[in-house]
Amino acid sequence: MTEDFKLKYLKSMKIINRIAYALMLSLVLLSRGAELVSSNTATVYYCISLVVFLLCDEALFRNTLRRFPTLVLQLRTYIFIIVLLIGSCFTCLPVVFNIALICLIFFLLIQDIIFGDVFNSFYNYIKYIGIGVVSGIILSFIQCRGEVKGAWLLLYVIVIAILGFVMYVFYDSFYKAITVLDDRYTRLYFRNADVIAENKKLLKFQERVEKVNSEINYQKINLTKANDDLAKINDETRSLIEVMKYFAASFDVEKNVHVMLENVVKIKQTGAAAIYLEKDIYMNDDPYLEVISENSVAETLLKQDIRNIYDAVRRRASTNPLVLCDNYDFKYPFLTGGNLCNAVAFPAYENDNIYGVMVITSSKYDFFENGYAFYESSLMDFTSALISDRLYLQTEDMAKKDGLTKIYNRIYFNKFYPELKEEVMASGDVFTVCMLDIDHFKRVNDTYGHLAGDEVIKAVARIDAEFAKKYDGTAVRYGGEEFLLILRGKGVEETYKILCDAHEAIKNTVVEYEDFRITINSSMGIACYPETCDNINDVLDKSDKAMYYSKEHGRGRITIDGREGET
Ligand code: GH3
Ligand code: MG
Ligand code: MG
Repeated sequence: MTEDFKLKYLKSMKIINRIAYALMLSLVLLSRGAELVSSNTATVYYCISLVVFLLCDEALFRNTLRRFPTLVLQLRTYIFIIVLLIGSCFTCLPVVFNIALICLIFFLLIQDIIFGDVFNSFYNYIKYIGIGVVSGIILSFIQCRGEVKGAWLLLYVIVIAILGFVMYVFYDSFYKAITVLDDRYTRLYFRNADVIAENKKLLKFQERVEKVNSEINYQKINLTKANDDLAKINDETRSLIEVMKYFAASFDVEKNVHVMLENVVKIKQTGAAAIYLEKDIYMNDDPYLEVISENSVAETLLKQDIRNIYDAVRRRASTNPLVLCDNYDFKYPFLTGGNLCNAVAFPAYENDNIYGVMVITSSKYDFFENGYAFYESSLMDFTSALISDRLYLQTEDMAKKDGLTKIYNRIYFNKFYPELKEEVMASGDVFTVCMLDIDHFKRVNDTYGHLAGDEVIKAVARIDAEFAKKYDGTAVRYGGEEFLLILRGKGVEETYKILCDAHEAIKNTVVEYEDFRITINSSMGIACYPETCDNINDVLDKSDKAMYYSKEHGRGRITIDGREGET
């Protein structure tokens, strides 16, 4: 019998118990009242005993008890029986009282049997039934006290035995009913426990399924993100290939810079992008700067600070990207004052030699969270292209320019001069050619040697180039020590003044060679289209003739075509 079942059963048992004691108590009092019992001592004894028993049972059957006190119940049963039997010794009790006492004893025994789990052996059956029957017999003998004899006594004993048997049958059916109920309850209990366990398993399984499900969802999100990232990387790689293709077909470094920057802005959706290249990187005389920006403030800031950023990058002497601003956290005093949230400077380098910087800015938070690979790749591709561009430009430059003086040579002049004439004709510009020849140059060679002569040629070429640059013209080494200065948009008078300055500069030049200080002079001729020549094709020839006029008329002078007589 399970503890739970006992405790549940106790509740109803308690009520039956109270009724039983109340009936017995009223019987004691009624017996005295009807004078069936004459002894006051016996009445008081039974009243007190019953009340004490009732209180004892009330305490025992408290349904708050978690473990049923089997041993205490057994003790209480035996004590109760002895007390009830002793009571009958004091006085002669009526039959009805005796029967009630026997019933009460059996009732107590049954309780003990039910709650004490004593059905585990046949011996216990006999023991309990024996106790009941023996108690009845003892009670009867005490009460009869020699009044019943012979066949009546036998009959008396048989009746008590039958009563004991009836009690046993009553108990047996009662016990079987309880056992059936208990079995049913136990089965239900275990079935319920199985269902609960199964339910727990199902809940655990459900939990696992939910966990796996959320993991799958998480992985799905990750996969979608990875897929998006891959698509982005694919776009970036494709754009880099397109830019590389452009680089392969173009030797124009500045155009390449533009294409590369535009691609970076388009693919990465940057706020602004700028590149700064040091001078003499691709035969450029000045540093080069390009800024692409939708935001005029960012553009102004970049233009203002990029030189300083470049210096900071160079000072750091590292080719790693330099974070200027990380989510509004400005690490350097550059590009502040606008609405920039992120800015990174990427050094452009060749063999660890930094030659420029690319600065990318954005007003978006966490703009560089996917790293710098794309920007670095773009710059590396650009650098590779730059190296081959420079080689091409150098080769082209060598073909165009004279090895000694580094100004345009006769071969290149022969190529560009016809194109230039066409351009001038189309534009309607004024166009002047100045021919220049060093006077008595042979003497320099003869007196100081050829190497000294070379230095003199270089000095004159430098002056020619200087004036060409200053007046937006072209300097050419036309022959051994013959030079051209070609100017556009300047009339005869203006050209004459310029040439006077150049003539003066040559005259004042002292070429120092070894211990010698060599001074020279030159003869010059000017011809101008359309001022002195109607036909543009005659300008070169006319300037040569004017120069010869200078030679023939005292050297060291300038002759204007058509105005030969003037000094
Ligand atoms: P003129 O005043 O009439 O011009 O007299 P000139 O001595 O300058 O005569 P010319 O123009 O005929 O002399 C040119 C000389 O320049 C001839 C050549 O030896 C010399 N020459 C030409 N190219 C070079 C060069 O690259 N280096 C040196 N050192 N001499 C050169
Ligand atoms: Mg000469
Ligand atoms: Mg000459």
